[in-house]
Amino acid sequence: MRVIVTGGAGFIGSALVRHLVSVKGYEVLNIDKLTYAGNEASLSVLRSNRSHRFMKADICDRTAMNEAFDTFAPDLVMHLAAESHVDRSITGADEFVQTNVVGTFTLLEAARMYWDTLPSERRKAFRFLHVSTDEVYGSLGNTGLFTEETPYDPSSPYSASKAASDHLAKAWARTYGMPILVSNCSNNYGPYHFPEKLIPLIILNALDGKSLPVYGKGTNVRDWLYVEDHARALDIIATRGRIGETYNVGGSNERRNIDVVKQVCLLMDSYSPKPFKHESLISYVTDRPGHDARYAIDATKLEKELGWSAKDNFDTGIEKTVKWYLENEWWWGPLRIGYTGSRLGLLTKSG
Ligand code: NAD
Repeated sequence: MRVIVTGGAGFIGSALVRHLVSVKGYEVLNIDKLTYAGNEASLSVLRSNRSHRFMKADICDRTAMNEAFDTFAPDLVMHLAAESHVDRSITGADEFVQTNVVGTFTLLEAARMYWDTLPSERRKAFRFLHVSTDEVYGSLGNTGLFTEETPYDPSSPYSASKAASDHLAKAWARTYGMPILVSNCSNNYGPYHFPEKLIPLIILNALDGKSLPVYGKGTNVRDWLYVEDHARALDIIATRGRIGETYNVGGSNERRNIDVVKQVCLLMDSYSPKPFKHESLISYVTDRPGHDARYAIDATKLEKELGWSAKDNFDTGIEKTVKWYLENEWWWGPLRIGYTGSRLGLLTKSG
């Protein structure tokens, strides 16, 4: 199996590429622009693996995309490249519209030209998975879950640009008959997550004894999924999902933000003790504009139809994540402002 992965130097993309190459033995061409969020160090375990090739390119560059398809000749495309941070989309939406909308359009067109010229057997076998977020559905009240039928109602420039890209992918399936699938997943967490995101930010600020910022009252609810469970789901959807379908991905781990932060604090008390409780560092900050109250996924379709289930629940996944950050300063240190070199013994409790 020959797979083009876009955004494979990012958080989820790198977990996916590690899974496809190391576990599944696929040949992967990883296309990534290496924005601030892309990091080749996340792929260092594949350094000597010849099944992984890296191409530094922008998905908005049509010539580069055509060349990638023509020279690599993929059986499958898994499209993850995106601008992904909601706060950045609020202060500067340009890159979000460019990469998420124009970039997806460019990639779809390059894929269509390539697919159109394939011999009939390979044309039948070809697939394109567009990877998206549950944020396209907007916000839930206290009850209910997002299903694949939930109407789109995005709140932020990020989720609006992802919603637009989902519509493009679905239109290319309906209009041109392209073999496209779409996945919408809840919030991911785990190793190699850029330190601006909630969970790594809390772990690393707690480590440095800095304040732990929580939006509003911390009551917004997210449905957390360990990133390696998402990577397995994407592989299953791309290779076994029904063409033209959408699959929601989530692990039924709803948590209020404040409870996530407090759980990280308890783990930090145990793995990196200080003379004070880490919880005392929590500080409530002005809420994000348009902050969705609650996301929660119904993943029944994926579970029943394709037999996927999450291996980690939030308690097991968050403990692994905290320990990973304490053991891997080589990865996150250079990404922190004012970093002056690695320290020893960040993980003080063994196990
Ligand atoms: P990320 O920001 O960590 O990684 C994005 C990657 O895309 C980076 O490596 C970046 O360099 C690359 N990229 C950005 N613009 C590009 C361009 N124009 N051309 C080529 N490469 C470019 O994001 P992530 O959290 O890994 O998310 C990956 C995908 O999964 C996104 O499409 C996102 O919308 C979706 N998603 C994320 C989550 C989540 O919780 N993080 C949940 C559901 C869905």
